[in-house]
Amino acid sequence: MKTKIQELLWPVTCPFCGKINQNGVCLSCTKKVEALLIRGPRCLKCGKPVRYKEQEYCYDCTHIWHHYDRGISLWVHREPVSMSIYRFKYHNQRFYAGFYASKIVQEHGVLIRKWNPQVIVPVPLYPKRRRKRGYNQAEILAVEIGRILGITVAKKMVERVQNTRPQKMLDNRKRKQNLERAFVVRTASLKLKSVLVIDDIYTTGATIDAVARVLKDVGVQKVYFLTISIGQGY
Ligand SMILES: [Zn+2]
Ligand SMILES: [Zn+2]
Repeated sequence: MKTKIQELLWPVTCPFCGKINQNGVCLSCTKKVEALLIRGPRCLKCGKPVRYKEQEYCYDCTHIWHHYDRGISLWVHREPVSMSIYRFKYHNQRFYAGFYASKIVQEHGVLIRKWNPQVIVPVPLYPKRRRKRGYNQAEILAVEIGRILGITVAKKMVERVQNTRPQKMLDNRKRKQNLERAFVVRTASLKLKSVLVIDDIYTTGATIDAVARVLKDVGVQKVYFLTISIGQGY
């Protein structure tokens, strides 16, 4: 969250619409964002909201094999959540991480504790891209969540060794190929039973899968994921 000095220099703004609001999230955004929380029936694999209770998996998860075991996200990736994450990622609004983390733990803390991860692994950025941006948004979110739940964040366990093309330009198959040799595990000496991978957005799951695959290759038994937002399932 913002420090006292930041609060004095900059007025408090709503993390969704960006308008000045002394209480943080404004009333209009509170309503919109509440409706985007994932509380109803959801996919047993990726956690996307699904239409019917009887439906175990979303359309994607019945057709695509995932390396991770299960995951959960806080919101459906729609306005005003998508704009908030955009500013968090590209416009240096890194203090949003504290807000997202407390919301995530409030909604899904019980589930995360049940998964019992020994470490949290943020999805790494390629070093050059990280230098350019100045920070890795997944890492600062991971640090905030780790702090609240008292779980170690292993920032250097997985490294991104290839500067991949932006995923949004590619289809499903190409996304997978693009990430095939993107990640390596650097510190694999520990016998880990459960790891929680954290990223900002889940789109097709290709990035999280690529990280999960290298973790499973070194013997991690269970890989879970957590993201701020995810697409709607069918
Ligand atoms: Zn607002
Ligand atoms: Zn799914």
